Amino acid sequence: MALHPICGCCNSQLTRQTHHLEPVEKRPDLALAWDNLAPVCTACHARCNALERRGEATAQLFAGFIRRPQFGGLD
Ligand SMILES: [Zn+2]
Repeated sequence: MALHPICGCCNSQLTRQTHHLEPVEKRPDLALAWDNLAPVCTACHARCNALERRGEATAQLFAGFIRRPQFGGLD
C-alpha cells in the first residue's frame, strides 16, 4: 500500500498484504471500507489469520497503527 509502506502491526517490515480487521466472511459489507483495512507484512498477516482461525479479533494487533486519510492530504 503506497500510503502505508510499513506494516501497521509490527511497524518494522514492509507492507506486503492488506488485512481486513473485520474478516470479509463476517462483514462482506466492509470488504472495501478503508477503516477496515490495515497494511501488514507477510509474517503479521499469518499471525492475524491464525487468530481468526481461533475466532479471535485482530484489531488489537493494530492498536498503534495510525491510519492515513484514504486519498492523502497536502501534508
Ligand atoms: Zn508486520
